[in-house]
Amino acid sequence: MAKIMTIKKPLGTANDYRQSLRDMKTAIWAFGEKITNVPDHPLFIPHVNAVAKTYEVNNPATSHLTGKTINRFNHIHQSVDDLVKKVKFLRTINQLTACCIQRCAGQDALNATYVVTYEIDQKYGTNYHERFKKFMTYLQEYNLVTIGAMTDVKGDRSKKPNQQADPDLFVHVVEERKDGVVVRGAKAHLTGVSGAHQVIVFMREDSKDYSIVFSCPVNTPGITYIFGRQSNDTRKLEKGDIDKGNAEFACVGGECVAIFDNVFIPWEDVFMYKEYDFAGMFVEAFASAHRQNYGACKGGIADVLLGATYGIIKANGLTNASHIRDKVADMINMTETLYAGSLACSYEGHKTPSGAFVADTMLANITKHNTTKFVYELNRLSHDICGGLLATLPSEADLRHPEIGPKLEKALAGAAGITAEEKMRLLRLVDNISGGTACVEAMHGAGPPQSQRIMMLRDAKLEGKLKLAEKLAGIKKDKK
Ligand SMILES: Cc1cc2nc3c(=O)[nH]c(=O)nc-3n(C[C@H](O)[C@H](O)[C@H](O)COP(=O)(O)OP(=O)(O)OC[C@H]3O[C@@H](n4cnc5c(N)ncnc54)[C@H](O)[C@@H]3O)c2cc1C
Repeated sequence: MAKIMTIKKPLGTANDYRQSLRDMKTAIWAFGEKITNVPDHPLFIPHVNAVAKTYEVNNPATSHLTGKTINRFNHIHQSVDDLVKKVKFLRTINQLTACCIQRCAGQDALNATYVVTYEIDQKYGTNYHERFKKFMTYLQEYNLVTIGAMTDVKGDRSKKPNQQADPDLFVHVVEERKDGVVVRGAKAHLTGVSGAHQVIVFMREDSKDYSIVFSCPVNTPGITYIFGRQSNDTRKLEKGDIDKGNAEFACVGGECVAIFDNVFIPWEDVFMYKEYDFAGMFVEAFASAHRQNYGACKGGIADVLLGATYGIIKANGLTNASHIRDKVADMINMTETLYAGSLACSYEGHKTPSGAFVADTMLANITKHNTTKFVYELNRLSHDICGGLLATLPSEADLRHPEIGPKLEKALAGAAGITAEEKMRLLRLVDNISGGTACVEAMHGAGPPQSQRIMMLRDAKLEGKLKLAEKLAGIKKDKK
């Protein structure tokens, strides 16, 4: 397998992790510039900090491959308890960062690959599963971060990959060699490039030429990453920390377009090739695992949103206003309903033939679908409560200015001894958590709402439900 040659020993601490990124020198384009000092560049530091938190906060699991203690983000779920621990930890760590920690898509892709490679081997006598287990052992031993690249740029959505005017709108194989394959194409929205070691790339369409799953180090020659803009991103380049909102951690995962320009992948890093009859199973395994998370990670972020909103309520002297209390109760209800969904699909998880456990598909889809609505509603209520200052707040530079700063401190002071600076910090945090980029992540991350509705309708067993109703309604069908 293509090991990352600059990583020579297991990464024990967050500092080891940061150093490993420096050594890898992955380049990312942003604002028309090629940036090569990614982990030390102000645009990326907050995103790297969020991943580094996963090295700081203890989240151990026992590897079923080696028996050793590993980071849970590199674990293949062996029980319902593992599924539950996954989402409990996501809520906790998102309470600490209020920002995407960028590791779940990778973890979910790894689990999906484990489950599906086993089944492909059973049918076709291939050896993908053993190959993949070796790869997992490497990730676990060196404690590496993997991200998941599924979403192609897709061009004309009404057409299949091989019907597109430009074949490179989906990642595909352009050459087969004795020692591997050469791939070309582009993936969109890739979360976590700035903080990752490995990327696992997989298809979502059931088209034979395009059915491939592989992994490679993120700094593999031939891949170009272009960073996406986010709400208020240039604030990360300014002095001061108030206006950034969440100076340490940013908000979403720092997504990139990834262009694969004739990238060579050795066979030992290919985990599926041409077995397109398994594409559907792969997508479902990944989607269920990924949708399982959303109530937990967004629940953790909603906890912080609630906290900041409550701070503003206190600053505004409105803790006893009945409509405000009602709105806060609604926010609590949605936050806990989101989390309940993540817990429910985990507790209803089941064992697959590979031995790995997966979340319940229906409940995972319901969880993600709730997220696409509740996050917007949570933000709407917070905006209602916080008032117009959320949109019209002056800058930190004004607060620090010797002439106008004292005027602002007096004018914006809150009730209950809450200072203007404290109010500004809370409002900027709300602004950061509830901004456009974060909302869109809740809508489209892990698939747009329609993709959940399709699965809900497929799995709802409506004919069976009709039979229940017919029996109780006394409708007897002629059995002739
Ligand atoms: C912040 C963020 C992080 C993400 N991180 C990752 C990641 O790490 N890895 C990854 O692989 N992906 C990631 N995604 C991608 C995510 O899964 C996609 O955004 C999502 O699947 C929607 O795809 P799209 O953005 O191309 O939207 P589109 O496909 O353009 O969808 C737009 C609308 O068109 C509809 N539509 C699309 N195709 C059809 C069709 N054929 N027929 C009818 N209607 C259609 C959709 O239902 C939707 O309503 C991320 C997305 C976001 C926003």
